[in-house]
Amino acid sequence: MATIIPIADLRKMPRPKTNGELLDALFDAAASQETSRAGTLSDSLARPLRDLRISVTDRCNFRCVYCMPKNVFDADFKFLPHAEILTFEEIARVARIFVDRGVQKIRLTGGEPLLRRNIERLVEMLAKLGELDITLTTNGALLAKKAKSLVDAGLKRVTVSLDSLDDATFRAMNDVDFPVAKVLEGIDAAAVAGLAPIKINMVVKRGTNDSSIVPMARHFKGTGHIVRFIEYMDVGATNGWRMDDVVPAADVVRAINEELPLENADPNYTGEVSQRWKYRDDSGEIGVIASVTQAFCRDCTRARLSTDGRLYTCLFATAGHDLRSLLRGSFDDAQIGNAIATVWRGRADRYSEIRSANTLRLPKVEMSYIGG
Ligand code: SAM
Repeated sequence: MATIIPIADLRKMPRPKTNGELLDALFDAAASQETSRAGTLSDSLARPLRDLRISVTDRCNFRCVYCMPKNVFDADFKFLPHAEILTFEEIARVARIFVDRGVQKIRLTGGEPLLRRNIERLVEMLAKLGELDITLTTNGALLAKKAKSLVDAGLKRVTVSLDSLDDATFRAMNDVDFPVAKVLEGIDAAAVAGLAPIKINMVVKRGTNDSSIVPMARHFKGTGHIVRFIEYMDVGATNGWRMDDVVPAADVVRAINEELPLENADPNYTGEVSQRWKYRDDSGEIGVIASVTQAFCRDCTRARLSTDGRLYTCLFATAGHDLRSLLRGSFDDAQIGNAIATVWRGRADRYSEIRSANTLRLPKVEMSYIGG
């Protein structure tokens, strides 16, 4: 598998719209006559709207060096004030409108979603929306305490981030000296509570935790849990990303396969982000998410809702559509649905396919705010 980073000519790309221009367009769309509700909502590249990721808080109790580096997210950093954050009622309302427009899967994320007080209440509200796949991504620090109440509230699945089993490496990466053992306790509690099989996300950064790849695979082999190795991405504008720090997914598979033989497995569904690999001895599977070296934009069906209610149509976006203004204005659900549909139909994002030295400089929003 080749490692190709295409070079785009930014002069030929459309100028990004400002927040003001986006808001004007959104109000116009909400106020316009409903066009067509029949069939699937598809964007300009024929990608349906299927998934919604909701960042329920921009705060986190970790300071992972590749996501919320301490030198930026320090005591002076201005997190969103309470009044700007969507309430649970607002989130549930907009989620219902998204579901009405084709969303089948909702992932709660952040920041650290388990820091949001009474998050179980939101899970319960979302679980009432119908036959939805509701999941949550967490660093696991509070999972042992919360797993049972989350399941009782209707959570179906969980993804836990864990970047190394080596305690010193993990403590250095989360940069708050948090021990591996506590995350493992959280994973066990989640399994006991009924959230198994659990997905475990490991972001691989060269020279930082690449020596943890095989031990991680070995540890979870045979447990039913699925480790997913994620290529380190140039999200946001604060992590000082360099292509040299990326360990290509193909190298991850090669390293594991040398000790624990693997074979390629079919995707569970079209557009699955993770490429599946099964152990040849039938003792489980791993996944690799090759977002840098093998971009999967053409299958991307994800919309993202930021903590303050902006709709983003790409993880690497520079601006979002202010749905909160509609939710707190005098617009009804049909009008907000109309605005969402207009945004989605106009979507043309494919950042990872056109990533280049120039796109690196774009003022992309941070992952903690937009939701990982
Ligand atoms: N706090 C939660 C957690 O730790 O899982 C949810 C939010 S976190 C932003 C979601 C996921 O994004 C985590 O698995 C994290 O490792 C991943 N992530 C953050 N920055 C990343 C980057 N630059 N490249 C790849 N993955 C990243």
